[in-house]
Amino acid sequence: MLTQEQLARYARNIVVDVIGQDGQQRLLHAKVLVVGAGGLGSPVCLYLAAAGIGTLGIADQDRVSLSNLQRQILYRTSDIGQGKTGCAAREIQALNPDVRVIPVDTPVNARNADDIIAPYDMVVSAVDNFSSRYALNDACVRAQKPLVEAGVSRFEGLLLTIKPFEGPCYRCLFPEEPPEGALPSPAQTGIIGAVAGVAGCLQALEVIKLATGVGSPLVGRILLFDGLETSFREIRIERNHACPSCGDQKKSPRW
Ligand SMILES: [Zn+2]
Repeated sequence: MLTQEQLARYARNIVVDVIGQDGQQRLLHAKVLVVGAGGLGSPVCLYLAAAGIGTLGIADQDRVSLSNLQRQILYRTSDIGQGKTGCAAREIQALNPDVRVIPVDTPVNARNADDIIAPYDMVVSAVDNFSSRYALNDACVRAQKPLVEAGVSRFEGLLLTIKPFEGPCYRCLFPEEPPEGALPSPAQTGIIGAVAGVAGCLQALEVIKLATGVGSPLVGRILLFDGLETSFREIRIERNHACPSCGDQKKSPRW
């Protein structure tokens, strides 16, 4: 049962007919891990907290720096030098005390990803490096948990929701992790903060849909966003049956 306070706090969610009180309960029971509390992770965390996602794991080992503030809207100038997960937890608690925040201060890699994602229903990849991106993909495929993936650079964004064995995973598209240094880093290419905001808001929306079971998630479709032209386009993609992560030889007997 929702309390009087919750009925008031989430009134605009509840009045949406496909959400209702039942959908709000699902949000409050959802356990979501957001990996990366930066330009993407900031709007993801804020919108999920505002919507009433009950448990929010936030994984990031960095400290807030001055150059983060142009896009990482979870943080204030006075946060410089402090750990990101602690600052994020404080902001989220101030926004919505219903949310239980679990800070994870270790970098996610291929060795620890299975353990880190284990307590959660679904994962948001808001990282800026390939080793974490591939580790999350492989761990979510093994655990058959949805993964909401996004990447941004300059004025462009890319989104894909991965439902393992139902649609393609990240390795279906890009089977092997590029060697370190093969691609320019975000610090070299730059990013407009509002572009990360658009992609992060779309990731939060995908989570809300997955948690409540409404709508059509971005499974089997890559969404490309061009901020300079303000245009969106979609590319349909299929599972790759030779995928090193979710290919036929890995197919789970449960599906
Ligand atoms: Zn795959």
